[in-house]
Amino acid sequence: MVSRVTDDYVAMATAGCAAICEPAFWAGFDRSSPQGFFDYFRQLTEHEPKRAAKFGVPHYCWLCINPKEAEDVKLATEVIALIPQFLAAPTVLGIGEIGLNKNSRNELKVLELHVDLAARHGQLILVHTPHLEDKLKGTRLILDVLKNDRRIQPERCIIDHVEEHTVKLVLDQGCWAGMTLYPETKCTAARAVDILECYGNERLWMNSACDWGISVPLAVPYAALEMRRRGHAAAAIDGAIFGNPLRFLSQCPKFKPAS
Ligand SMILES: [Zn+2]
Repeated sequence: MVSRVTDDYVAMATAGCAAICEPAFWAGFDRSSPQGFFDYFRQLTEHEPKRAAKFGVPHYCWLCINPKEAEDVKLATEVIALIPQFLAAPTVLGIGEIGLNKNSRNELKVLELHVDLAARHGQLILVHTPHLEDKLKGTRLILDVLKNDRRIQPERCIIDHVEEHTVKLVLDQGCWAGMTLYPETKCTAARAVDILECYGNERLWMNSACDWGISVPLAVPYAALEMRRRGHAAAAIDGAIFGNPLRFLSQCPKFKPAS
């Protein structure tokens, strides 16, 4: 939402969005210092919830240094050290979106630092998986890191951007799986509903890519229309787009969507 205009808040409120959960992400450019992240964390925890409240939508966030900026381990270590002071904020859901971008050794090290941070502070975890040809290998590496840390409970982790070839690995480990919807590239609404139909909607949910690039804040409501077009029952649609996120996010006691 930090890259979006108020019209998007109006559209989401009108479509019935009960809460917005914004991950800390890449801003479209690499930040040059830990101070840049400090201000970004303030924007996510102080300013954006106030802006969203003007449109009646509760705003929550996740905090981390995202994988795309995690190649510099020294910078990442300094940014991670800033995070604990923000964790008590009333709208912080957990640590994310952490994960891998190019599956490099440094990214893996920073992922482990984030997982340790989440474990020490009892936080939920939101994970970004790499795109295209790096996705399968990256998803396996991420799942291994989570499995190797005995403090981590898989049901408190959501692995995002799953596709047909990674969703089963994630569900089999006991984690939640997120499908990020894009208008044309990557996972479209039609593909996401195909995946739901193949793998059930026990621990699966959909979210909208919503950033500085070509993306659609209403992608989840559009996917609901796709489910309706295919004849899914209203209760099943509600479970997929509202009930499941609610079940996962309610593991954080701070999470209170609009009723
Ligand atoms: Zn991501």
